[in-house]
Amino acid sequence: MTADQLPGLPSAVTICEVGPRDGLQNESALVPAAVKVELVERLADAGHTVIETTSLVHPDRVPQLADAEEVLRRLDRRPGVRYPVLVPNQRGLARALDLGVTDIAVFASATESFARANLGRSVGESLEMFAPVVARAREAGLGVRGYLSMCWGDPEEGVVPLSRVIAVATRLFGLGCTELSLGDTIGVATPGRVVALLDGLVAAGVPIGRIAVHFHDTYGQALANTLAALQRGVTTVDASAGGLGGCPFANSATGNLATEDLLWQLDGLGIHTGVDLTKLAETSVWLAGHLGRPSPSRALRALTGA
Ligand code: MG
Repeated sequence: MTADQLPGLPSAVTICEVGPRDGLQNESALVPAAVKVELVERLADAGHTVIETTSLVHPDRVPQLADAEEVLRRLDRRPGVRYPVLVPNQRGLARALDLGVTDIAVFASATESFARANLGRSVGESLEMFAPVVARAREAGLGVRGYLSMCWGDPEEGVVPLSRVIAVATRLFGLGCTELSLGDTIGVATPGRVVALLDGLVAAGVPIGRIAVHFHDTYGQALANTLAALQRGVTTVDASAGGLGGCPFANSATGNLATEDLLWQLDGLGIHTGVDLTKLAETSVWLAGHLGRPSPSRALRALTGA
C-alpha cells in the first residue's frame, strides 16, 4: 500500500457512466442525436466500459431522449463496452431487442409517493409490471440493472425506513436483476445511513458485488457517501460526465455526482477505473458548449477553468 491509499478499499471500481441517459434526460437543452452519438463514443474513447446510452420510454414522457432509436442505430457499439438502455415495460424491451441492445435497466421506487408520481402505479404494481420484462430479458441473455430510487429520502415522505427499502430491493433482486443500483434521488443520504442500508441488504442476502450506488450531490455528500460504500465492498459507482443532469442554475437540478469529481477521488486513492480524466474532462467541456452552460463539476472547473 502506498501513502496515498487507504485500507479496506477495492483495487478497482467500475464507473457506470449515466450522463447520456440520466444526465441528458434532466437537462433542459435538447441535444441532437449526432451529438449524443459523439458523446457516447467519446466516453468510450475515455475508457468507460459501461455507458448508459438512452431510454426507450415514451417520447412524450422524456422528449430529451425521443431519438433513442436513432442514437442506437447510429452508435458504433464496441466489444468490451456495455451500453445499457432504460426500458419501462415489455413493449420497450421488444424495441430494445430489435435494436440489438444487450443490457437494459428498469426503474423502480422504494416509496409509494414516487412510484405513483413517476410510474403512475403503486410499488407493488410496478414490480408486477417489471417481472415479465426482467424474466424475458434474462432469457434473452441480457444484463438487467434494477434502479431503486428514493433509497434514503423522498421529497414527500421524508426519511425512508430501511426495512422498506430492503423489502423492495430484495423483491427487485428476486425478479432476476443482475445488478441493483441504489439511488439517493434527492441527495439527502449521509455516510452512516449508506452503510446501514448496505449492511441491511447484505444481511437480507443481496451480494455486495451486485450492488451499485447512485449518489446525488445536492447536499455535497456524494463523495463521502461513495467512500463509505467502497469501504463496505461496493465496486460499481454511477456518475455523470460533467455532472450532467445536475445543473445548479436550473430548477430541475438533481445533482448527479460528476464523473470528474469521482475520478479525482478514485485516481487519488490509486483505485483503477480505466477512465482517463483528461479525456473525460475534454468531453465534458465540449458538451457544455452544446448545452450552453457551465458544468457544475468542481474537478472539471479546477482542471479546465470551464
Ligand atoms: Mg441520477
